[in-house]
Amino acid sequence: MRVRFAPSPTGMFHVGGARSALFNWAVAKQQAGTFVLRIEDTDTSRNQPEWVDGILSAMEALGITKDDPAFEGPYFQSENAGIQKEAAQRLFAEGKAYYCDCTRDAVLARTGNQQTGYDGFCRDRGLEYAEGRALRFRTPDDGETRVVDLIRGNPTFPNKNLEDFVIARGNGSPVFLLANVVDDIDEHITLVMRAEEHLPNTPKQQLLWEALGQTPPQWAHMPVIVNEKRQKLSKRRDKVALEDYLAEGVLPDAMVNYLMLLGWAPGNDEEILPFDELVRRFRVEDINSSSAFFDIKKLTAFNGEYIRALSVPEFTTACGPWLHAPYAPWTEEQFDSEVFDAVAPLAHSRVALLSEITSNVDFLFLDAPVLDEDSWNKAMKAGAAELLADVRTALADPALAGWTAEVLKDTVTAVGEAHGMKLGKAQAPVRVAVTGRRIGLPLFESLEVLGRERTLTRIDAALA
Ligand code: GLU
Repeated sequence: MRVRFAPSPTGMFHVGGARSALFNWAVAKQQAGTFVLRIEDTDTSRNQPEWVDGILSAMEALGITKDDPAFEGPYFQSENAGIQKEAAQRLFAEGKAYYCDCTRDAVLARTGNQQTGYDGFCRDRGLEYAEGRALRFRTPDDGETRVVDLIRGNPTFPNKNLEDFVIARGNGSPVFLLANVVDDIDEHITLVMRAEEHLPNTPKQQLLWEALGQTPPQWAHMPVIVNEKRQKLSKRRDKVALEDYLAEGVLPDAMVNYLMLLGWAPGNDEEILPFDELVRRFRVEDINSSSAFFDIKKLTAFNGEYIRALSVPEFTTACGPWLHAPYAPWTEEQFDSEVFDAVAPLAHSRVALLSEITSNVDFLFLDAPVLDEDSWNKAMKAGAAELLADVRTALADPALAGWTAEVLKDTVTAVGEAHGMKLGKAQAPVRVAVTGRRIGLPLFESLEVLGRERTLTRIDAALA
């Protein structure tokens, strides 16, 4: 069993690519097979070598690592140019392909402007190669091509609908359809699992496998991934770069788990499972052929569950990047890891994305809170200033029984009662004055960690 993942390095690594990579990886791991990584870098106008590093590091983040014995490569399609050209020449020598000098306009003129594809004009003209002549594959006129697709129930394609397609350009360079097949043959691929958009290529590619004297592979075309409007995910419209999700603090394990469920389900209504278990249950035949919704809310909820499954020290370590520049707005001098450790258990049960940690704890490290205006306006309604002034007096009282969450809560409760306010309402202005926001970590524990002096200074600033 040999599978492959064959990305073109044309941009940031896409969640759809990540799903393809993982499904192939799961098959290779389950069946003690091999996963080949092949970089399809022949479209030099769109490919950028720097994207290759992005692909490799994103795959590494997902656990598809070069040092795993199941991993082979990366190979580069451009390095196979020689055998791709040889294959084209062999097809020509065997009469399975022919040169063509038709321009697009000439074909359109002959077909009365119908975009029906190539009309076969040069099929029997016996042209030799000359600069500018494309090499076309001679497709059968009759019969049909049936492909074994593990997801789509073996679709058949009438051969008369397959035009004599180009396999090498006028400058002799092989086109994608051929290069992709020659590489798959060279790498002994037995299952081609790839995006649904390639399904129309499949009968043509299968004919190439056969013409090159090879037994075609099994195919599996994975469903498209759509957004909440049921539109195919696109890099112009949607957030698709894996890196962006990781930068927001989606844990790689949560991402892997979520991506594995895009078009497949492990059964028993179970969703959150370790990768090994997903691999054990994975069956290509069970992948759904209808489109898969990339539900960011669900991904975030998954991530929350994965965060909760960490121990507090693991959570603290995972938060690392978001506690420092460039994510965090405070300086290294302002940051205090003991203060963070004191609130980490409170944050651990609340954040769904690790990046949320920054705004949850910034009030502890910055000199003044980041004031959210909307929160301020909502909290500082009639009576709030008077209440806040009385809270200040109570908290400053030398007779206060201590600076603990419990004492602070009792104090604010009592002041609230004197103002005819329930605790929920009474604590809102205090929270905004001290943290800048209406929502966040439990207030009284936060005040305890912040300390008396800083709490009072902030209330004074809010009252000024
Ligand atoms: N390089 C192609 C792509 O990025 C993959 C083709 C294939 O998997 O066969 O879509």
